[in-house]
Amino acid sequence: MSKKSDEKLIVAIIIIGIPLFILYKILENIIAILQNLAKAIVNNLNIIITVIVLSILIYFSNKLYPIIYFQSKKFKKLKETISDHINNCNELNQYIEELKNSYLKMSSYNYGMGEMTDNSLHNYQRSEWKNQDKSYNVHDCSASVCMNASNQPMKYLCKYFDIKKNENSLIKFEKVLNDFISVEQGKELLQKEKISILQSISKSVPFLIKKYHEKQLSKKLGFETVDISDSYIPTFSFQYVSAGGYSSTNCDIKLSIENLNNLINYLNDEIKWRKSVIGQRALMTSQLRNQIKKRDNYTCCSCSLGIEDEPNLLLEIDHIRPVSKGGLTTYENLQTLCWKCNRRKGVKVFVGF
Ligand SMILES: [Zn+2]
Repeated sequence: MSKKSDEKLIVAIIIIGIPLFILYKILENIIAILQNLAKAIVNNLNIIITVIVLSILIYFSNKLYPIIYFQSKKFKKLKETISDHINNCNELNQYIEELKNSYLKMSSYNYGMGEMTDNSLHNYQRSEWKNQDKSYNVHDCSASVCMNASNQPMKYLCKYFDIKKNENSLIKFEKVLNDFISVEQGKELLQKEKISILQSISKSVPFLIKKYHEKQLSKKLGFETVDISDSYIPTFSFQYVSAGGYSSTNCDIKLSIENLNNLINYLNDEIKWRKSVIGQRALMTSQLRNQIKKRDNYTCCSCSLGIEDEPNLLLEIDHIRPVSKGGLTTYENLQTLCWKCNRRKGVKVFVGF
């Protein structure tokens, strides 16, 4: 054999031989570990079986225990003692859901629709113009309108979403603000009330149920789920999309409580009040609501229930003489009512129409 082929053979042995040797060593170790493991299992078989049986027992008792507990007489009795409080919470929850639908029929100003034909040559089709969103709360506009809207949101909201600058609009948004504030406060008070009810029965509920089945406990007691998201708050958008769709800008105006206050102040500044009305009317903002509540000592003017009696009581502001019957937003015509009395009064006024 030549010297060259000898060298090739040595290199081949090194390249294939070394990895094979390493693999062999690894396998040898794995087999040794497995052998030791098998020995350990055989030696400790009793312990292992005990652990498995115990785990199965713990798992099933964790599943079974709540089923047995929630069926027990003890739990049913406990549920009965607080059922009035829970019904109260659920009623408030439903009221909050009703308020979320506060009247807000606002849409982008209807300029009418023209027929558009694109006669461009093949590569110049303005495809994005056909896909423009025609949703009621989206206004398609130029980039500069979009930018101006973000600088002066209330002005552009009125201009492009057809909000008339008159007292009717003001009354409408004051009502929406009132309802949305009640929703926000109601959600918070509801959470607090739920915690205080659960605390009041805490000593009577077994530790395991409190610790591991809290959600189930609140469901079995009869609490309805409270939706704490703010998805009910509408957003109005100004949107610019270039013809080719390569560039776009967006300005979103969320009608949050802060923005509703801004809108009410803006409308008030813009309304050309008759001389006879100037100075007579107060603005139903968050600030005024707080002033009226303080004046009435955080107590319902109808049933005399106050936050001293019920710390989580939802209080609202009511027009003594309803706005629909010519009542004005003045200090004298406003009063604090608890949500139940306010709701009852609302129904009466509605039936009266
Ligand atoms: Zn009341």
